[in-house]
Amino acid sequence: MPSTAAVTTIRYKSTRNGGPPVSLREALLRGLAPDGGLYVPTDIPPLESGYRTLESLQEVATAMLRPWLEEHVEPSELGPLIADALSFPIPLVDLGARNPTYSGVYVLELFHGPTLSFKDVGARVMARLMGRFLREEGRSATVLVATSGDTGSAVADGFAGQEGIEVVLLYPKGGVSEVQERQLVVERPAVRTYAVEGTFDDCQRLVKQAFLDPELQRIGPTSANSINIGRLLPQAAYYVWAEVASGLREVVFCTPSGNLGNLTGGLIAHLAGLPVARFVAAHNANDYFPDVLRRPDAAERDSVSTRSNAMDVGRPSNYERIRALIPGKRMRELFWGTSVDDPATLARMRTVYDETGYVADPHTAVGLEAVHRYREATGDEGPVIVLSTAHPAKFPATVWETLGQPAPRSDRLERLRDRPKRVEPLTPSLDALKARLLQA
Ligand SMILES: *Cc1c(COP(=O)(O)O)cnc(C)c1O
Repeated sequence: MPSTAAVTTIRYKSTRNGGPPVSLREALLRGLAPDGGLYVPTDIPPLESGYRTLESLQEVATAMLRPWLEEHVEPSELGPLIADALSFPIPLVDLGARNPTYSGVYVLELFHGPTLSFKDVGARVMARLMGRFLREEGRSATVLVATSGDTGSAVADGFAGQEGIEVVLLYPKGGVSEVQERQLVVERPAVRTYAVEGTFDDCQRLVKQAFLDPELQRIGPTSANSINIGRLLPQAAYYVWAEVASGLREVVFCTPSGNLGNLTGGLIAHLAGLPVARFVAAHNANDYFPDVLRRPDAAERDSVSTRSNAMDVGRPSNYERIRALIPGKRMRELFWGTSVDDPATLARMRTVYDETGYVADPHTAVGLEAVHRYREATGDEGPVIVLSTAHPAKFPATVWETLGQPAPRSDRLERLRDRPKRVEPLTPSLDALKARLLQA
């Protein structure tokens, strides 16, 4: 008799413990748990034993995600889904090969996706899963996003063209950089972009009001922000890939962090069995998490704006998730944190360029400075993999000002110049937004 292999079923509970555990489908479609908490897995399936012999990012990601997804996605369909989502390389650059002072320091370039930030990884996988779950339920949805940085374009690009999903992007007119704006306003199927005559807070307020508005329920409003478990799981996969690609074991990972979603992905990979020596949490002047690692009673704070603006988060939502996944004592052993201000960020960008020729964007530079500090503080000279979260071409002004030369080109960004645009102005009122959303 052929044996029926048992299908792993992972359940997700709220960090605030309200309500019964739910499936991945429900956790992903809901985003936030009904009690306001974040979904965390009740069990973490172990990495399959042969993962180190796999050869490509796509294979590693498929193997890593299989037990998490097999309840919902047939194994034969998972490989193609992942290959379609992760259709770009994630290379590892050995800085030690350029200058022995950097021996053991590697950069994992997560920015080769369509919108040039690591957010493409989570957004693209999540979009495909959400599209599938909605189709199976015969539903459609409208993803509403308020954006001031990399999230909007990653979500718009990742979700565009998924059957049954419309995307509505709101960004503050004049409140994003020229490159970001170019990425937001490019015409994409089933994506509507509004330049709101107001601030980012106005955009966020409109989205929150839209979620609660009774008439708007018929467009199926939903979110795709970084607290969604659907974005976190794929982010665990590239930590595994980094160790496989480097042939190294038990490395230190250094992650430029804001809302701590990227780092939570690393923690999940570790809890699934990936050997990791330490996680370095590299923050800019928004130093809540490094502070908490030193004194558990650290107070929450408002965000301050910096040159690494995608990490300007005062109260990182995923901290609640990290606390739910490991005990506080273990957290303080496993994570080492530091806060890097703007002058130190730009100085590190310059030094790394002078010493290795490597051009890091400001977020990655926070990570490189954190590695330097970590090595000095601990004497640990073991291998370190720094996650590079954005392409330097997204920050041409900072690169020019700091290095005195133009940022490396990105063909993807160049090509956007000639693509048609689609953007409409919007006054910051719920009535104005409703009129647009309900007319379609
Ligand atoms: C979003 C973002 C971060 C912060 O990631 P979190 O998951 O919020 O910690 C870092 N760098 C870049 C370039 C980003 O876009």
